[in-house]
Amino acid sequence: MTTTTATETLGFQAEIKQLLKLMIHSLYSNREIFLRELISNASDACDKLRFASLADPALAEGEPLEIRIDFDSAARTLTVTDTGIGMTRDEAIANLGTIARSGTAEFLSSLTGDAQRDSQLIGQFGVGFYSSFIVADRVEVLSRKAGAPAGEGVRWVSEGSGEFTVETVERPARGTSIVLHLKEDAAAFADAFRLRQLVRTYSDHIAFPVLLRPDGGKGDYDRANQAQALWTRPRQDLSDDEYRAFYRHISHDPGDPLTWGHHRVEGRREYTTLLYVPSRAPFDLYNREAPRGLKLYVRRVFILDDAEQFLPLYLRFVKGIVDSADLPLNVSRELLQEDREVEAMRSAITRKVLDMLTTVAGDDPEKYRGFWSEFGSVLKEGLAEDPGNRERIAPLLRFTTSLAGEAGEMQSLADYVLRMKPGQKAIYFVVADSLEAARGSPHLEQLRSLGVEALLLTDRIDEWMVAHLGEFDGKSLKDVAKGSLDLDDLIPAGERKASALGAAAIEPLLGRIGAVLGKHVAGVRASERLADSAACLVREEHDVGPQLRKLLESAGQVLPPSAAWLEVNPSHALVKELESLPDGDRFSDLAQLLYEQAILAEGGALADPPAFVRRLNRLLVGSGGSSIVLPGL
Ligand code: ADP
Repeated sequence: MTTTTATETLGFQAEIKQLLKLMIHSLYSNREIFLRELISNASDACDKLRFASLADPALAEGEPLEIRIDFDSAARTLTVTDTGIGMTRDEAIANLGTIARSGTAEFLSSLTGDAQRDSQLIGQFGVGFYSSFIVADRVEVLSRKAGAPAGEGVRWVSEGSGEFTVETVERPARGTSIVLHLKEDAAAFADAFRLRQLVRTYSDHIAFPVLLRPDGGKGDYDRANQAQALWTRPRQDLSDDEYRAFYRHISHDPGDPLTWGHHRVEGRREYTTLLYVPSRAPFDLYNREAPRGLKLYVRRVFILDDAEQFLPLYLRFVKGIVDSADLPLNVSRELLQEDREVEAMRSAITRKVLDMLTTVAGDDPEKYRGFWSEFGSVLKEGLAEDPGNRERIAPLLRFTTSLAGEAGEMQSLADYVLRMKPGQKAIYFVVADSLEAARGSPHLEQLRSLGVEALLLTDRIDEWMVAHLGEFDGKSLKDVAKGSLDLDDLIPAGERKASALGAAAIEPLLGRIGAVLGKHVAGVRASERLADSAACLVREEHDVGPQLRKLLESAGQVLPPSAAWLEVNPSHALVKELESLPDGDRFSDLAQLLYEQAILAEGGALADPPAFVRRLNRLLVGSGGSSIVLPGL
């Protein structure tokens, strides 16, 4: 090996420097994962070569695709070599030091400083090549790109601090060797038995042979893994551990998957899928630009990472592979987008995932709750994105409800329907910014006194979601803050009559309040929903509610202003007080306050807060000997 150019010293990109530091200092437990990461990169490099040689068979150079592990315990070195695609000098500089993987900055900003939580996040991020520095104080990369002459090899060296060096070297062998100069306390990794065990544990599923020599330096290599694409093996021959290890390989998630499904489809189209649902959400779940999708293989040849055409956006958390027997080997992202076959595969895969979730929900509700808390808000998007599967998605939804016990155990819509009262026609829900606000909503008072349950919706997309859901099991979903609650069949006839009389009696008062509030409200009427509160706001059946309005406006939509009805509680002390007052300043102050407290109770913002404060103070001071206490203030 002769050096043919001067050595160049370069600095790591700031984000990478930060990542390296974090890793060296926080990933002390479970250090052995470095080997899995290096073998995984080596396997990717072999996949890429196999793919490239489809178009240019000369690239294969008549050499088999394999991964070799060598070690020298005296010199304390461990080398992972692959005969894959290799890197040019420029690629080594870019890939191993100057271009942080997309999402790195986002990842770093999501760290909390809490060592334990952060080390989990680091694992979740997928540490890749840099994990070498957990066990090595010096890492040397020797590589030569497939198709390049032997004189264009590259040697990259770093001690993991701020810098690395590169030089051009002679390297006859295609592919890459990563030479780890092991730290003193990592010397035990230079051991055939240990290495073989690690390969079995973490890399058995790798589709290329991983070769080891019994004594490191001499003798013949033998295979330490199965070296057969895992998904091509029959299900009954695979252990759960093998499925889990494969999940870690493709997902870079150090945790276990929640569930998986392995299916072979035969007939007009032939393909195999191996789909995983992770246990935990990735840090970038809500970044719609983040890479997502399945790894695509065609007849076992790796074609593409992140083939998003096989999954809808609302299932973006699913990981896995699809291996097609029918797609052409030269298929590209663009072609996938237009392919009718791909479209059909995507709907079949979507159903498989929904079936997997349905099975978990049925067999292991506890586990399903875990899924829901990680991915529920994403799954909800499916009601809008995938109307064709609404019937499959709806039973998978979970809600906190007004009747759920202390533990706040979440309920399915089917649970709700089972508990509906005789005469109850709709599935009621309340939309609010928080569970407290939802539970305390004035709109729920009458329902609660009738023992009728309501779903508490607090996710920012919930109102939008139920608009798309519309109904479940033939029952419509009804916002308690809109239109009429249609409670007639739930209330005994005697009470109904009494409340109708009460409402009729305050007609004149309603008109007087309406005159004070003017165009701020659509009108004033007696309420059927209130028990303890004095007033609430109610919108028309098809009006946009406050939450959805906020969501749409934040997305840049301009909505026409709409005024709500003010509903008042005829039996409330404040309303009675109003009734006893003649028109005048005190009457209009109180009437406005009634309106303003209704806005505040639903989490709304007052148009003129200082005026509200002045009005309130006027009343507090002026009320003097009056017995009224303003409820809730
Ligand atoms: P990741 O593999 O997740 O992209 P890594 O930090 O492990 O991230 O590697 C960074 C990049 O370096 C890879 O994407 C790849 O381009 C390149 N690389 C790493 N190892 C090899 C290898 N053995 N052969 C060829 N390229 C490699």
